[in-house]
Amino acid sequence: MDDPFDHIRARFSRLYEPYISIGKGWYPLLLELDAELTTIDPDLRYAQIKEKWGELRVYTTSDIDVVRAAIHRAEAKSRITCESCGAAGSMCKRGSWYRTLCESCAAESNYVPHQAR
Ligand SMILES: [Zn+2]
Repeated sequence: MDDPFDHIRARFSRLYEPYISIGKGWYPLLLELDAELTTIDPDLRYAQIKEKWGELRVYTTSDIDVVRAAIHRAEAKSRITCESCGAAGSMCKRGSWYRTLCESCAAESNYVPHQAR
C-alpha cells in the first residue's frame, strides 16, 4: 500500500516512533503543514503526530515562533475538518471519546455533536 507519509516519517526525531495516527480526512492538512514546515526549517524533526481530543496534534523538536504558528493553524483547521472524510466537521462525542466529524460520518459511527462549554 502507498504510504503518503514516507517523507514525513523520515523526518521524525530518532527519539520517537515515527507513528502517525490520524484519519484520512486530515491527510491533506498534515501534508500541507509538512510542506510549510519544510520551507521554514528543512532540518525540523517531528516528535509526535496524532489525534487528541478530536484535534490534530503535531509536536516537533523546534520551538521557533513561525513553526508553532504554522502548527496552530493546522490544528485550528483540524477542529473544523472531518477526520474521517475531510468534509466540514465539528467536535463530536461518543461516551468519553471525542472526534471531529461531519454529520454523516458522525451518524455512521454513533457520534453525536458536542457543544463545548
Ligand atoms: Zn465525514
